[in-house]
Amino acid sequence: MKQLIICYLGEVCLKGLNKSTFEAQLMKTIRRRIRNLGQFKVYKAQSTIYVEPQDEYSDVDTAYDKIKKIFGIATISKAVVVEKDFEVIAKTAVEYLGETLANAKTFKVTAKRADKAFPMQSPEISRQLGGRILSKYHHLKVDVNNPEVTVMVEIRDFGAYIHGGKEQAAGGMPVSTSGKGALMLSGGIDSPVAAYMMAKRGMKIMAVHFASPPYTSERARQKVITLCEKFKEYTGDVNLHIVPFTVPQEYIRDKGVPELFTVLMRRSMMRITEKIAEANGAEAIITGESLAQVASQTLRAIKATDCSVEMPILRPVIGMDKNEITEIARKIDTFETSILPFEDCCTIFTPSHPKTKPSLEEILEAEKNMDMDVLRRLEDEAMAETEVVFVNV
Ligand code: ATP
Ligand code: MG
Repeated sequence: MKQLIICYLGEVCLKGLNKSTFEAQLMKTIRRRIRNLGQFKVYKAQSTIYVEPQDEYSDVDTAYDKIKKIFGIATISKAVVVEKDFEVIAKTAVEYLGETLANAKTFKVTAKRADKAFPMQSPEISRQLGGRILSKYHHLKVDVNNPEVTVMVEIRDFGAYIHGGKEQAAGGMPVSTSGKGALMLSGGIDSPVAAYMMAKRGMKIMAVHFASPPYTSERARQKVITLCEKFKEYTGDVNLHIVPFTVPQEYIRDKGVPELFTVLMRRSMMRITEKIAEANGAEAIITGESLAQVASQTLRAIKATDCSVEMPILRPVIGMDKNEITEIARKIDTFETSILPFEDCCTIFTPSHPKTKPSLEEILEAEKNMDMDVLRRLEDEAMAETEVVFVNV
């Protein structure tokens, strides 16, 4: 039996955007994500994308799991395709869904006739096929409201598709249809979740990580690469920029006001991130900040970091509790990596009594006394030494 994957697009997604651009982007993404799994033909018809293996060596099951994580696809199913002949359809349905039906107690048949040239109408197809199934599986009962199994028959342009119902896919908008964002990626729990959430709204993600060797280790650096390896399943390819931040950070430690160290450092990180973002075509900065989670995430501190740059700063987890963020981190499989206990540059040199409500005036004053020309030069030098790691799907 010839199996294929059917991707149903979210209706919401089709409204605002140019539909064909949207579909073309999605097909491009699908082809790229499954390119190592065999020969597949990816095509569309009637607002639905089909992924069809071209030989028996192509790995349909793995392709299905990968495609399920692609944003822009609302629901998905694995189906068999047969010729548009009721006898063939009925025989195949009983065979293909045999095991599922044998293990269920209730079912219903839903038929959809997109090809109006097919001689039977949808209710007729459902009724007849339901009858066939009942005559084969005597233990089954029809339940139209809450069936255990839904047998779906879709009569479409290229054939009749039979499957056991649709599954929820990733939803959202196709990656790259909403511009590009530069994610500030730490090794923590929150920033990978922020990447997932903005990619879900159609953003292409690039990442910027600040490392301060020898205070931060090679293992901390590897951890951040591993995080990109994990969330790329959702975001697609990520270019990770690793900035050697030791010198600017030591300068801020030595010349800045200790109680304001964290905010001064974060402003410095923001300035560098904005420049890297601009140079790489990104139009927004993304962080994993959540209001009141730590001292550097009070409204005052957020205001102070905001006005260090002009680019919009997107904080998709700002209103979420840690357990809500953790739930997503587990779902996208970044949690176990995030909790590995390696030092992040944000946790070194931190003062014992940070100011939780610094005023902008105090911060600007502290920067003035620090000789910003020198700090900006050090920031530019760090940027020039940035290493780029290409994390591809
Ligand atoms: P996370 O779990 O994402 O590490 P956090 O709760 O530990 O967040 P902070 O350490 O205050 O919070 O960091 C807040 C945000 O600042 C992070 O979500 C991330 O976007 C950014 N950030 C922190 N450290 C770094 C770093 N070393 N490199 C790049 N961005 C960072
Ligand atoms: Mg952190």
